[in-house]
Amino acid sequence: MREFAYVRAADVSGAVRLAGPQMRYLAGATNLFDLMREEVETPELVVDISRLPLSAVEDLPDGGLRLGALASNSQVAADDRVRRRYPVLARALLKGASPQLRNRATVGGNLLQRTRCRYFYDLHAACNKRAPGAGCAALDGFNRTHAVLGASPSCVAVHPSDMCVALAALDATVNLTGQDGERSVPITDFHRLPGETPHMETVLREGELVTSVDLPPEQPGPGDYVKVRDRASYAFALVSVAASLRVENGRIARARIALGGVAPRPWRAYAAEELLVGAATGEAAAGEAAAGEAFGRAAEEAVAGAAPLEHNAFKVELARRLVRRTLIELAGRS
Ligand code: SF4
Repeated sequence: MREFAYVRAADVSGAVRLAGPQMRYLAGATNLFDLMREEVETPELVVDISRLPLSAVEDLPDGGLRLGALASNSQVAADDRVRRRYPVLARALLKGASPQLRNRATVGGNLLQRTRCRYFYDLHAACNKRAPGAGCAALDGFNRTHAVLGASPSCVAVHPSDMCVALAALDATVNLTGQDGERSVPITDFHRLPGETPHMETVLREGELVTSVDLPPEQPGPGDYVKVRDRASYAFALVSVAASLRVENGRIARARIALGGVAPRPWRAYAAEELLVGAATGEAAAGEAAAGEAFGRAAEEAVAGAAPLEHNAFKVELARRLVRRTLIELAGRS
């Protein structure tokens, strides 16, 4: 590990005043220290924000819920309001990492965790995300866990978060503070697609700090987070689905579908959601075997445009089946 300067921030404004290209914020340390130990990241200054008062989970006046950026994943998953009103988020958190990691990992850190692409961590491998312009070893390498949607010839890494997939399905908003003041960004706009600049992973400006995440008041209807992984615990998603259905008078009034493990950011399936509006749930759920049933069409649309690599074509079919199965189960609960 390279030497670095360490400062403990006394308040938010003091933290953002230390902004610089070689500065990193430190919260739960579940990802940054690994990256620093391997010298994938070599910040000159680490600003410890872990003692800032940003860990509350609070009701908002509009009926929504605010998750402090330093609230731990365990804390949020155990919060009664989250479990009751946003069960898809609680389930996603409980399917991420180990209990020990969830006790340390924070809301803000979860948003900013970096890909687990093996070549990103291997300093001897070409990686545009780690060293812009170097190339991408995953394109011709072992790319079983990589992206099938939203990738580019510069980078095919996936975003590793479970929590962010649920936040995307919930239409959450990320609140930021920087040297220019405060602003809010929809979670679905927070992470960038790689394009030709895969090292730029979010829309954060230099030194901007995630202070909280807001969940909207609107009740999303029955929801679930379903994750397929290589082993039963402590593994990143091969494919995951966060979905909710609101049913009124036997028809779908609103659908939300987000995929994880398949793209460089949580992947909202907007066109698939549109297809479902107005579908009769009894009809759709009963038509499991029918080729043209609503959930099958939506599942097909959810992976439209997929471009698999040599070793990960299975993800397309897996995602299709997982979306369809999740929707059928949700319709059965409505
Ligand atoms: Fe690097 Fe992205 Fe290629 Fe992985 S997929 S080696 S992170 S550029």
